[in-house]
Amino acid sequence: MSPIGNIISRLQNSEKVERVRLSLQLIGLAIFIYFGSQSTFYVVLLSIPIALLFGPVYCGWMCPRGMFQNIIGSMGKRVLGKRYNTLVPKRFHGSLLYFRYVVLLFLVTALLLHEFQFINDSIMESVVVDGLLLIMAVSILLSFFVDRAACRYFCKEGAAASLTNLVKIRMIRRDHSICNSCGICDRMCPMWIDVSKKDVVRDAACISCMKCVQKCPVNALKVE
Ligand code: SF4
Ligand code: SF4
Repeated sequence: MSPIGNIISRLQNSEKVERVRLSLQLIGLAIFIYFGSQSTFYVVLLSIPIALLFGPVYCGWMCPRGMFQNIIGSMGKRVLGKRYNTLVPKRFHGSLLYFRYVVLLFLVTALLLHEFQFINDSIMESVVVDGLLLIMAVSILLSFFVDRAACRYFCKEGAAASLTNLVKIRMIRRDHSICNSCGICDRMCPMWIDVSKKDVVRDAACISCMKCVQKCPVNALKVE
């Protein structure tokens, strides 16, 4: 394994990993509060070099909306028990994953129309900005029922960042000579990726949270 892979694997197997994640998410939240909601887009842009290496790390490790979804999601798990994560049937999940690209396309189109003065400032603010904020707020609340509902189906920044999954250099690989097919990685994945059925995780939905690697009981998953 490469030196970078070794460092990541040690971090993933450490008990401190969730504290590291929470600290980074709190830094993300401080940036969000100080610079406003548009800062997220620029932070995602700045994180592109690291995303080209490991995928959308910002989504899995630093996004404050991810933190809120984790908190709301843990409440949902406690209240709903086995009914948690059953709101969206798996047969619709694959198609619904494309909706966040529709949201991104809507934003890009609106920005272009605004730039060329086909829509004025008030429409831009009341329909586009407020509309997208409303979608994000509702989708974060939906994470009470569905793990990372906003990341999965609604987040435009996540949609843009997800494209780095297609070109990233380091990938999660499953060693099937070690894997015992326990399925823990599938259950831990907030994006509902069937990790246990893959040799290499290349899915655009992956948010590089590394929970699958972290929780594999036999260390069959490595970042290489
Ligand atoms: S958690 Fe590890 S051992 Fe279990 S199915 Fe996934 S890769 Fe295999
Ligand atoms: S495949 Fe692993 S790293 Fe990717 S989203 Fe799922 S749990 Fe996170």
